[in-house]
Amino acid sequence: DPRLQGISAAIRVVPHFPKPGIMFNDITTLLLRPKVFKDTVDILVERYRGMGISIVAGIEARGFIFGPPVALALGAKFVPLRKPKKLPGQVISENYVLEYGTDCLEMHVGAVQPGEHALIIDDLVATGGTLCAAIRLLERAGAEVDECACIIGLPKFKGRCKLNGKPVYILVECR
Ligand code: IMP
Repeated sequence: DPRLQGISAAIRVVPHFPKPGIMFNDITTLLLRPKVFKDTVDILVERYRGMGISIVAGIEARGFIFGPPVALALGAKFVPLRKPKKLPGQVISENYVLEYGTDCLEMHVGAVQPGEHALIIDDLVATGGTLCAAIRLLERAGAEVDECACIIGLPKFKGRCKLNGKPVYILVECR
């Protein structure tokens, strides 16, 4: 797909952010280019249209940028998966392990009905730990997770196209 080259070129790599030694893949430069932002959303919509997906779940915070336009185009609901203590209603939580320490994602009870088909969206997959927690949340609520989609895949994730048996669709592998 010739659009992928433009998407790859529009992602900025910021060295030593947020900590020394880390190369941070920054999608905000992609958002400054409406054609490239639209291409990114279009590729996802083309892939998932007509598949019976009724939930697009976005992971805080950058899954909240790419998820909603995909959800609207698919006619699906958008479900935010948030960091702890952000959602006001009753929640279910899933902890996950980071390189140093742990983190947690939460989802509102009642956002998802058993048997619904879900797509999970985030900007980037590295170890896959965040997506795994998201999959567990949706499955605990009885949803069927059809696929996870990320704009960027890091090299350490390379070659893996599945997580907990779920396929992961990656638009561009990081340089
Ligand atoms: P994982 O759980 O190791 O796969 O890490 C993925 C999570 O960390 C996602 O929610 C990403 O938004 C975030 N993340 C890790 N590295 C980067 C980066 O270089 N740019 C943007 N987000 C990142």
